[in-house]
Amino acid sequence: MVNELITIVEDEDDIRALVCAGLKKERFRVREYADGKGFLSSLKSEKPDLVVLDVMLPDTDGFAICRGMRADRALAAIPVIMLTARAEEADRVLGLELGADDYVVKPFSPKELAARVKAVLRRASPETSRSRLEVADGLLIDTDTLEVTLHGKQLELTQAEFRILHLLATRIGWVFSREKILDHLWGDEKNVTDRSVDVHVKHLRDKLGPAGKMIANVRGVGYKIVAPESEHRPADRK
Ligand code: CA
Repeated sequence: MVNELITIVEDEDDIRALVCAGLKKERFRVREYADGKGFLSSLKSEKPDLVVLDVMLPDTDGFAICRGMRADRALAAIPVIMLTARAEEADRVLGLELGADDYVVKPFSPKELAARVKAVLRRASPETSRSRLEVADGLLIDTDTLEVTLHGKQLELTQAEFRILHLLATRIGWVFSREKILDHLWGDEKNVTDRSVDVHVKHLRDKLGPAGKMIANVRGVGYKIVAPESEHRPADRK
């Protein structure tokens, strides 16, 4: 799995559970810690792609952890979103000055937090940072070799088809407008119409065979890759 790993450091069990559930729903991998010590020792074995960090912890505070991470070359690039119960301006400024990428004030909805997480990840990691993307079960994109394999079998995609699949796969479940897809394909040299996106997508779906149905048309907007879970509707059961 290459889905981003998000670590939550929060001592309040119900908030931690809520955050975990919200992020798992968005297909993130999740690790949780109830104190700073457990979190800091976890960093020696596995570094998360982003940390959701509560300010008030039993053994330390989130500000100190954030400051420590920013001072450590190996950890400095990991994005941090601070959770704070206090909406005071001074806390916000302190968090951001210490290098937090964003902060969320309690109470917050899991949806809001997930949206912030996605936004921070998008800013922090260029889509080229991973050479292999697992789009869905058996569908792999290798961004170094520009190869796409489905259950081990290499697909012959045109450059446009490859780039569309890759763009959609950078954020499973996100809707990309036709315009955004065109920008990605051609940059400023747009001499093609929105409809050409539809044609490329149709060919891409054909080449993907049954797996092609993961690329969903969002009427009037564009396209997205549907997370596999949402495909298992009760009607599909035998
Ligand atoms: Ca707390």
